Amino acid sequence: MKVSVIGTGYVGLVSGTCLAETGNDVVCVDIDADKVKRMQGGEVPIYEPHLDVLFERNIEAGRLTFTTSLAEGLEHGEIIFLALPTPEDEDGSADLKYVLGVADQIGKLMTSYKVIVDKSTVPVGTSEKVYAAISKNARCEFDVVSNPEFLREGFAVDDFLKPERIIIGSASERATDLMKKLYKPFVRSGNPMIVMDEKSAELTKYAANSFLATKITFMNEIANFCEKVGADVDKVRIGMGTDSRIGKRFLFPGIGYGGSCFPKDVKALYKSGKDVDYNFQILDSVIQVNQNQKKALIPKIKAFFSGDLKGKHIGVWGLAFKPETDDIREASSLVVIDELLKLGAEVTAFDPEAMDNVKRKLGDSISFAPRMYGALEEADALVICTEWGVFRNPNFTLMKELMKQPVIFDGRNLYDVAEMASEGFHYESIGRDKAT
Ligand code: NAD
Repeated sequence: MKVSVIGTGYVGLVSGTCLAETGNDVVCVDIDADKVKRMQGGEVPIYEPHLDVLFERNIEAGRLTFTTSLAEGLEHGEIIFLALPTPEDEDGSADLKYVLGVADQIGKLMTSYKVIVDKSTVPVGTSEKVYAAISKNARCEFDVVSNPEFLREGFAVDDFLKPERIIIGSASERATDLMKKLYKPFVRSGNPMIVMDEKSAELTKYAANSFLATKITFMNEIANFCEKVGADVDKVRIGMGTDSRIGKRFLFPGIGYGGSCFPKDVKALYKSGKDVDYNFQILDSVIQVNQNQKKALIPKIKAFFSGDLKGKHIGVWGLAFKPETDDIREASSLVVIDELLKLGAEVTAFDPEAMDNVKRKLGDSISFAPRMYGALEEADALVICTEWGVFRNPNFTLMKELMKQPVIFDGRNLYDVAEMASEGFHYESIGRDKAT
């Protein structure tokens, strides 16, 4: 089938590449000329595991091409995916200027029937707005479908190739049939394609992300409470998770969620509620608790250094908002680093993939270590912000040799408290006893 994808970020590039992988001819359009040039030259512009292999293979086979021309994309595809940003607006709502701006142009450029598929995360009612924006100038038939994306950065290729479900929000039989045909190769194991109205599809995405953010936040509150009463959140988590109604996943406490989705999606759903005079109290709390949680290690660090961090050298492991990505949008590490700098500390950070992005954002206000142990040289303490696999089983002996003193503040509960005590570390984490 002929497919075009408008926007080649984490969602658009993964979608386009995976759709090419099943034999479709895919044209990817992006407004960023430099990015398009790099992709045309065979460079994957983001870090996403396994994407490079598929990317190269499909470019070589001629099934995956890149352009800055929306007209070219519109000419090529019968199915047009919109994988455009929907960032947080000043009032917390999702900013639709990218989606509606492109929709506006689509009406002018379309010369034959198209299915316009909204893959961006958008508030309820957006498909009607997209439809209206295209209609203003359209000279041919078209349908608008809501097809929210559930891929996770770090697992995006696998999630796209083997989705747990595909949501198709459409009132058009013609568009639904085309979508089912396109997605059939991805659901051979029997996972469902769920067809519903556009509004319900749009809300499904926000409801799913807000629920997951709430689940994490609930555990963070339980962890904070554990610290007050001397319980161990790891034991509580395992005890709770064995209840199949609760499940084991998304119960890990830490220094808050970040990323390009949860923070903005929870806020956007909260704002959508306000717009129709509905107060999503639970989401209001989730937003507040998460903001505070990002700073959960700071009082512990301050207490350890008796409030004086001036000139203290702090190593930071992990900058990405989660492992297996270079994405630093709303990353907890940025809040932690900001607080440490405000307290007068000197920071040297290491991340396997996200250092370039942080360098661009923070300039030389912090130093970067090319290797993980480099961040520990002469360090007064190590702060862990992201649970990269490579941090899970480090060489504690080497760490002690490199550091000025063996002190770790762990925002992701990577290590066993008793083990850290026997290794001789001062070790503080989230919702558990400290080792001193
Ligand atoms: P992104 O910021 O990584 O990428 C967006 C791309 O769109 C950029 O390359 C940008 O240059 C391009 N773009 C902007 N305006 C354009 C225009 N007028 N024409 C062509 N290209 C244009 O965004 P993303 O993370 O891929 O997210 C896209 C959407 O998908 C958002 O609504 C997001 O909420 C949603 N989503 C994201 C994820 C995720 O994990 N990142 C998962 C599910 C859904």
